[in-house]
Amino acid sequence: MKFSELGLAPEILRAIADQGYETPTPIQAQAIPVVLSGRDLMACAQTGTGKTAGFSLPILNRLATSRRAGPRKIRVLILTPTRELAAQVEESVSTYGAHLPFTSLVMFGGVGINPQIAALKKGVDILVATPGRLLDHAQQGTIDLSGVEVFVLDEADRMLDMGFIHDIKRVIKLVPKQRQNLMFSATFSDEIRALASGLLNDPAYVES
Ligand code: AMP
Repeated sequence: MKFSELGLAPEILRAIADQGYETPTPIQAQAIPVVLSGRDLMACAQTGTGKTAGFSLPILNRLATSRRAGPRKIRVLILTPTRELAAQVEESVSTYGAHLPFTSLVMFGGVGINPQIAALKKGVDILVATPGRLLDHAQQGTIDLSGVEVFVLDEADRMLDMGFIHDIKRVIKLVPKQRQNLMFSATFSDEIRALASGLLNDPAYVES
């Protein structure tokens, strides 16, 4: 399997080549076609398997191939359990989207909220956030999630371990009902299954 066989836009293939990636990892080969098809996804994948590119590449492809009319709104929301992971994911998204005209933003707590508000006002296509700070913005009315088309829950098992289940449910209420959902977890416990069955619509299952 080659990246060029996956149906990704040339700008994305160029970014992959810039990174020196030669072939998709197993999770990428399985997840990319599912995400491109618009279907919901449940993926069992550990860190180090290439899962971040597994969702970032097809999401960027979707944004590249379907521009939206009207005012600019956040189109992709990626939730992560920790600041470190949020920062890493956002860095990957900007790397893979380097040849595309998109804006991504990373947002977490423990830092000033005003720069985040200013960045949101300028317009963001892809937001990577931890749940607490995202909900702070929602409460203050400084974020609009009504344009979200793709919702990603990364490291869902760690999210549950960290007690984020209620926050996740609150965030889900803020995004449109009609959307694509992607969920990644290293383990597939009963709690993860329960969360998946509430969140995902007829998902494809992939495993690394
Ligand atoms: P992740 O599992 O998303 O944290 O990715 C683990 C590491 O694998 C990251 O440092 C990526 O840069 C790298 N990586 C992702 N996809 C590929 C690939 N297809 N070929 C080589 N390295 C990759």
